[in-house]
Amino acid sequence: MDLDFTDDELHRYSRHILLAEIGAIGQAKLRAARVLVVGAGGLGSPLVLYLAAAGVGCIGIVDDDRLELSNLQRQVAHTTARIGHNKATSARDAIAGLNPDVTVDVHSTRMNAATARDLIPRYDLVCDGTDNFATRFLLGDACHLLGKPLVSAAVLRFEGQLSVFRGHAGAPHPCHRCLHPEPPPEGLVPTCSEAGVLGAVTGVMGTLQATEALKLILGIGETLDGRLLLWDALDMRFRTVRLKRDPACALCGDHATIRDLSAHGPA
Ligand SMILES: [Zn+2]
Repeated sequence: MDLDFTDDELHRYSRHILLAEIGAIGQAKLRAARVLVVGAGGLGSPLVLYLAAAGVGCIGIVDDDRLELSNLQRQVAHTTARIGHNKATSARDAIAGLNPDVTVDVHSTRMNAATARDLIPRYDLVCDGTDNFATRFLLGDACHLLGKPLVSAAVLRFEGQLSVFRGHAGAPHPCHRCLHPEPPPEGLVPTCSEAGVLGAVTGVMGTLQATEALKLILGIGETLDGRLLLWDALDMRFRTVRLKRDPACALCGDHATIRDLSAHGPA
């Protein structure tokens, strides 16, 4: 591992390097890491900013949306002046201002089965900051089949959820389908654009997601692998529930039936 740091790097990351759990070796791990962030919205904004500030060497950002005025209530990596810009490009501009040493791969494309198969193998881990069940299940299946850890967060109204999935590592690690075997019927669970969300809730959950991604890269602490974090901002209570691997799971179970991404559309 390359442990040579410039004076500027030593200065920039001094508060990390002071931590016994990180030090110069941990900072070198962050610099060598490649993280794919899917969605540069409410979760993705704090996520990419904290990953970049931490010195993660390469951040891939997937988003094909254009920035709208109604996004700025929570999507704090963007600016009013960049309304109409692609969100992945706008997030890259924000990162460039914060930490120009970070390489950003802009993928201004829609995440589908072909994109997942192409992009995910190029990164060490994936963070899901999307807001729809189709992409959520695609990423869950793709990360499992391609052997990459997935840090998955969701928000709605005043609530957030977060977990880490490493089902590809085998028992006892659960996969995302051990928790949710199938997507809910369309229209049953509203989206943020239908039901609303407190902007700060996305900020907290995206920041927690960045924390889990950094822990995975550094190999420190106890991640949410095998646990689901639930947060209700109105009563300000966090709780975690245990997630168990389901031996009958269609993705990771003893007689798994999902072996490719064909259920998610043509390649
Ligand atoms: Zn499973």
